[in-house]
Amino acid sequence: MSKQTLSFQAEVAQLLHLVTHSLYSNQEIFLRELVSNASDACDKLRFEALNNNALYEDAPNLEVRVTFDKAAKTLTITDNGIGMSEQEAIDHLGTIAKSGTKDFMGKLSGDQKQDAQLIGQFGVGFYSGFIVADKITVESRRAGLKPEEGVRWTSGGSGDFEVETITRPARGTSVILHLRDDAEEYLNAWKLKQVIAKYSDHISLPILMEKEEWKDGELITPGDENGGRQPGGMVKTGEWETINKASALWTRPKKDITDEQYAEFYKTISHDHEAPLTWAHNRVEGNTEYTQLLYIPAKAPFDLWNRDKKAGVKLYVKRVFIMDDAEALMPSYLRFVKGVIDSADLPLNVSRELLQESRDVRAIREGSTKRVLSMLEDLAKHDKHDTTANADGVTDVVDADDKAKEGKYTAFYAEFGAVLKEGLGEDFGNRERLAKLLRFASTTSDTASVGFADYKARMKEGQEAIYYITADTLAAAKNSPQLEVFKKKGIEVLLMTDRVDEWALNYLHEFDGTPLQSVAKGAVDLGKLQDEAEKKAAEEAAEAFKPVLAKLKEALKDKAEDVRVTTRLVDSPACLVVQDDGMSTQLARMLKQAGQQAPETKPVLEVNAEHALVKKLDGSVHFHDLAHILFDQALLAEGGLPEDPAAYVRRVNALLV
Ligand code: ADP
Ligand code: MG
Repeated sequence: MSKQTLSFQAEVAQLLHLVTHSLYSNQEIFLRELVSNASDACDKLRFEALNNNALYEDAPNLEVRVTFDKAAKTLTITDNGIGMSEQEAIDHLGTIAKSGTKDFMGKLSGDQKQDAQLIGQFGVGFYSGFIVADKITVESRRAGLKPEEGVRWTSGGSGDFEVETITRPARGTSVILHLRDDAEEYLNAWKLKQVIAKYSDHISLPILMEKEEWKDGELITPGDENGGRQPGGMVKTGEWETINKASALWTRPKKDITDEQYAEFYKTISHDHEAPLTWAHNRVEGNTEYTQLLYIPAKAPFDLWNRDKKAGVKLYVKRVFIMDDAEALMPSYLRFVKGVIDSADLPLNVSRELLQESRDVRAIREGSTKRVLSMLEDLAKHDKHDTTANADGVTDVVDADDKAKEGKYTAFYAEFGAVLKEGLGEDFGNRERLAKLLRFASTTSDTASVGFADYKARMKEGQEAIYYITADTLAAAKNSPQLEVFKKKGIEVLLMTDRVDEWALNYLHEFDGTPLQSVAKGAVDLGKLQDEAEKKAAEEAAEAFKPVLAKLKEALKDKAEDVRVTTRLVDSPACLVVQDDGMSTQLARMLKQAGQQAPETKPVLEVNAEHALVKKLDGSVHFHDLAHILFDQALLAEGGLPEDPAAYVRRVNALLV
């Protein structure tokens, strides 16, 4: 096939523009990305070769070579991994296959600094080469194809790229960067070694560079970077040396790994440009033995809510990459966790499908889930340290390690709390541990900082339930009429405003023996919190109101399941509640918005017999209109819309006139 010119997918062209215009502040990451691609390519070869040993051809030692040519101003990264066919080069280097790409592009604001951060999270991968190069040539031949079936891909990084067929005896890929003038510092072995040590030391593959030595040099001023030698400069010797440690980071003993190395490794596997919040590195012994290195990110990725995204935790068997099927290794509610699991017990030559079913993989998943929960528990425990002496005169002992954990759980929760809640419905085995990790706003705190245990410790004498309310926003929750009596009596109510709360709470009925009670479900039963006089007054009011109640029920029979007198209201005339076993009106509304079937249940209208408007009902000539207004307003107050808004307006206007 002769040369053909093709256009980049629109998203790629857009991304390239951004890469070259906003990422130059962190130029050197291009090397990490290209080395990481080389390493992925070798992982892929190793995996495919499990069933087809011939793919190794005559080069069984997988490696990456980094070379540069000062005269031509090129820097080349070569691997002998899986390589690409012509079609693969077109597909992989001309489009972005990542899910959520469109979404991501939509989020870009045009503000360079902000966008640079977002792009960092998204991971520019191969295209980061254009930060330092104004032209990139890729030459590749896929393992298993003939030498004449090689491909050359070339692009200047704007709208299009060229591909042509070439002959390439060596399997694998060379990425040749034609460096911009302002990136010539990468034509220096010392600089390259430094950057590779920083970003790629943990890559298990050897990274090789050709040794150099001084030519006709004379030491003038020892100590500076070039040793002050003149004038022939450095020349290549034809000898190659391995410049990284070339042992996978997770296989090294903990004590030999610095925090910076852990953080750099995290950045490579996560494409996150920020350091992780915390991590755990362990060898797990037992029936299934494996090493786990699990990270909790500091910031949520842009596609956190895309439940079918791949990523997260990678499974290796004896250092061979097997799969990164998120669900098989981590439950979906922990999809933000990144890391590596390496097991020596799993068979290497088994299909990914079979592995997912394997008992060992399930044991690994369970063990890793528990590990993440303990990491979170540890952060939660150290989120706030009590530096005042407690009742028995003891002050918490807080060492430097503990101190470093302060505030981390709050930070974690702000990013991932809503995802964690999905676990209540997903992971029954760990439900109690999860419940302890949840935090909510409440009538005493506007931020999500109240745990069920804190709440219980503050419960009033005689209080028998943990009260909560769900609403669309914090303001709606705080001003809900259903809270009135709780406010009056000074009883704390948890305010739940995440979309997932309603659903998640379906799976949690009690905490540590205390039932959870929605203040918008069923009749309020304040139990022992109400004194005898209050109870009696309420009963009398209900009795006196009976005839009006009967008329109200009749007038609203199409809208309300029931109408009853309530003591939960103080300032409002009426509110809607659902039957004890019913679906909340909020959830039903959410389901409908999402185009799903919601069971048609009618709410119960509760009225405040003490309210002036309610008192007016008795004998009013406008009884019918007032009854409907009462109902529709109760609906409005909780964020709903009257079924017939025009009728509502007509009724109110008639009364106003
Ligand atoms: P990612 O690595 O996240 O998939 P990149 O932009 O870094 O994204 O790379 C895009 C794709 O190009 C890779 O998924 C791979 O298919 C292909 N690719 C890049 N570099 C190489 C390489 N050195 N060898 C083989 N394929 C490569
Ligand atoms: Mg990549």
